[in-house]
Amino acid sequence: MTEPRERSEVTDSPEKTFAAALELARGNPGASLFYLHGDLGAGKTIFAKGIASFHGIDPSGVTSPTFALVQRHSGGNRVLYHIDLYRIDGERELAELGIEELEEEGAVLVVEWAEKLGRRRREDGIDVTLEVAGENQRRITIRCP
Ligand code: ADP
Ligand code: MG
Repeated sequence: MTEPRERSEVTDSPEKTFAAALELARGNPGASLFYLHGDLGAGKTIFAKGIASFHGIDPSGVTSPTFALVQRHSGGNRVLYHIDLYRIDGERELAELGIEELEEEGAVLVVEWAEKLGRRRREDGIDVTLEVAGENQRRITIRCP
């Protein structure tokens, strides 16, 4: 078994976090599962925009959800689901989202607050942890399986 690869960098602007996400997606063009972790305001949604952009989706349409926990973006080369589990409370609500069906569609899934997936998380997901390291600094740790 190969060890997961982990790397870390600090960005000093939202644009650089966006660029880091674009680069991650470019380096893993076939990857379908991105699990994002980090507090509110850490930059998860900006990171999701970067992944979407690589797949030809207009990043301005990738926003923090108000009501919809799952947002479908079909305007690019692959369908992308942007999922925010922040408001999810408990296994039943999680089950109702039907994430497994979305995975089977062959779409790209970008999941904010992915730790809430619990046993539903899959081994082949790429984990990205964003931490606030200053007003405009974010430490981004990427772990590829
Ligand atoms: P989350 O989805 O994790 O709650 P958002 O992506 O919605 O976070 O917001 C991140 C906020 O932090 C934005 O207001 C953004 O302008 C700000 N910010 C400041 N510096 C950075 C950085 N280096 N990377 C990402 N966001 C940053
Ligand atoms: Mg967000």
